Amino acid sequence: MMLRVENLVTRFHTYDGVVRALEGVSFEVREGEIFGLVGETGCGKSVTTYSTLRLLPSTGRVHSGRITLAGESLLDASESRMREVRGGEIAMIFQDPLSALNPVMRVGDQIAEAVQLHDDLPDAEAVAARVEEVLGQVRMPDPAGATRAFPHELSGGMQQRVMIAMALAGRPKLLIADEPTTALDVTIQSQVLQLLRQLKQEAGLTVLLITHDLGVVAELCDRVAVMYAGTIVETAPVEELFSDPKHPYTQGLLAALPGASGMLAPVPGRVPDLLAPPSGCRFNPRCPLAVDRCREEPPALRGEARQVACHEVEP
Ligand code: SF4
Repeated sequence: MMLRVENLVTRFHTYDGVVRALEGVSFEVREGEIFGLVGETGCGKSVTTYSTLRLLPSTGRVHSGRITLAGESLLDASESRMREVRGGEIAMIFQDPLSALNPVMRVGDQIAEAVQLHDDLPDAEAVAARVEEVLGQVRMPDPAGATRAFPHELSGGMQQRVMIAMALAGRPKLLIADEPTTALDVTIQSQVLQLLRQLKQEAGLTVLLITHDLGVVAELCDRVAVMYAGTIVETAPVEELFSDPKHPYTQGLLAALPGASGMLAPVPGRVPDLLAPPSGCRFNPRCPLAVDRCREEPPALRGEARQVACHEVEP
């Protein structure tokens, strides 16, 4: 197993009280797959990744749970070990590549810097060869021109390719892609998704994809976990999730899909306030199937290949 997250509980201690951001989140990302973590804004997708990378803001704390990367416990690792892991074994790409790139440094120099951080190469020629190699991996058109450019001179899609090239420089075991195509227009979006698929097929890259967009999940992922209010409500192979959604929340999301665009439309009712989440199942105030038990007892995530957290539905 590449990444295993077990019963993760993360809270934020704020002036207004304790925000119960993650309540027993569990999922597994297998080697060589693209695993999607999907849900509405504020459901805890990004908190899950920041907990994994141990990059929570000072108000945030992992209270309990276990996170292992290829068997190594990340919550027990030293801070210096975590610095190696970030950008090394685990690389990240974000929604807005421009904000992650240095605006006054040529793209080639930035990739070279990423290369040198991870590889002890003998000379500038070897560094240039490795830069060329990672640009080839991301199929950068006109790689020589791209290396001479400043980030703002490249299109959004090319900037995202540069970010992926820098991520690949560390030969990561796992790439976390947080809404990597949200800021891109549809054509460019599908080119970047295609690139991630090719990297998975050719280089065996393992990807944890964070997204609110079920269309992206359908296009790219092998398996998916649906998050709601800091909990995982369902995990399934992607085709099965779309053909036979089991959890009432997943069913609501799919029923609300506006035609082909695949963006999540709101399910009736409001996302709960995580300062005072509903007792029992966090979805109970919005759930058409809710019974008394749902207001008292949180449902466990049950099942094997398919998992559902619901008292009223079998996996
Ligand atoms: S546990 Fe109850 S409230 Fe929660 S999704 Fe299932 S039926 Fe609905």
